[in-house]
Amino acid sequence: MTVAPPSTLAQLRCFNPACRSQFAITEVLYNCPKCGALIEAGYSPLSASAAELKRTFRERRLSNSPLDQSGVWRYREMFPFLSDYSHVVTLREGNTPLLDAPLAAEYGGLKRISFKHQGFNPTGSFKDNGMTCGVAQARALGMKRVACVSTGNTSASMAAYAAAAGLEALIFLPHGNISFGKLAQALEYGAKTLEVEANFDQILALIRVLADRLGIYLLNSVNPFRIEGQKSIMFEMLDQRDWQVPDWVVLPGGNLGNVSAFGKGLREANSAGLISRLPKLAVIQAEGSAPFYEFVHEGAREFRPVEKPETLATAIRIGDPVSWPKALHEIQSSNGVVEKVSEQEIADAKAIIGRCGIGCEPGSASTLAGIRKLTAAGVIDRDADVVAVLTGNVLKDPDYIYKYHRGKLEAPGGVKIQSTYGNRSIVVLNDADKIAKLLG
Ligand SMILES: *Cc1c(COP(=O)(O)O)cnc(C)c1O
Ligand SMILES: [Zn+2]
Repeated sequence: MTVAPPSTLAQLRCFNPACRSQFAITEVLYNCPKCGALIEAGYSPLSASAAELKRTFRERRLSNSPLDQSGVWRYREMFPFLSDYSHVVTLREGNTPLLDAPLAAEYGGLKRISFKHQGFNPTGSFKDNGMTCGVAQARALGMKRVACVSTGNTSASMAAYAAAAGLEALIFLPHGNISFGKLAQALEYGAKTLEVEANFDQILALIRVLADRLGIYLLNSVNPFRIEGQKSIMFEMLDQRDWQVPDWVVLPGGNLGNVSAFGKGLREANSAGLISRLPKLAVIQAEGSAPFYEFVHEGAREFRPVEKPETLATAIRIGDPVSWPKALHEIQSSNGVVEKVSEQEIADAKAIIGRCGIGCEPGSASTLAGIRKLTAAGVIDRDADVVAVLTGNVLKDPDYIYKYHRGKLEAPGGVKIQSTYGNRSIVVLNDADKIAKLLG
């Protein structure tokens, strides 16, 4: 059953309230050509009722069609930017569990917590939710090449989806900053990787010039279609809770695309009648990389980037987050908060999430560390219904884990991180009696 046909009534629009220029959904835009602000996708109101939508989303879970099996495209009425779904390439992204974790709840000062674990995605992070949409739009536009500047989860995800879609993937990096640990997935998926003698901003400017010339579609964090796909994380979470709205949704903040997506998705779900109130959003940043926290808490007029962002949580090591104006709007609209946490707090929270049998990458663990601070400060109630989003898989950063458990982890600047919940391997002799005694 289909509720709404793919709409031709989608547009791109400028996010600046003073401009609000509109453009065709098929224009290749990353910023407003009139004022330079961020752009977003916008749609005409849905014709289907909330009850019809909920039924359709649920029925699709029984379907064997690839589009319905995707935890992103299952909710396609909520982002109808394509007029032809044959452009979609899905690796069955989304479909991530909502997990209860009593030990983590206790650590976080809560009676209950559930983790929406995006690390269960095909390439191990929530970037897949957005990338399937970005790549579908690239194909709809007839592009043959896609590109991003990234050493992390974005490049892994883009490389996989581009390969599956038969597009050429180009990854640009500042020369010398290469870390094969993080690039391994991208290399495996066949992406062409270029190290450029320039810094991040210079490379971004360079690939914008090349993009026009060489027919390259940019899939960096500003790409509005990635944001559309990431909204599905909230739709799926609500669907899994039978549309019961939590009090709080907590997530890490790097470039701030994800909080922008969550806020937009939740507001749109509210307008469509799928829910009747908004959860509060809490964004958690790492202390050494917290420009959004500083901006919100100082009430500054100007957004000041952090020159040299530092944190072992590399997924959120972003000094100049492109999506901050959208993120600010979502924090204000949801009555949310922004918190920051130390390297030690992230490391310990991560070990606790591990002890729940769940595990995640360091950036994701900032959520539980932030929750612990926010409950202690009385911002989040002990009784509150809290969903924390774990953004990446535990296997993304094994080096960090091994060092933490051996007491060898050092924060930037050489500060030693205590192995509070360390778990070391024990060397034993090949002697049954001795081992039996050791194990009690
Ligand atoms: C990209 C990423 C983040 C940061 O998300 P933003 O949208 O940039 O704020 C956090 N955690 C993981 C694992 C990521 O890959
Ligand atoms: Zn504009």
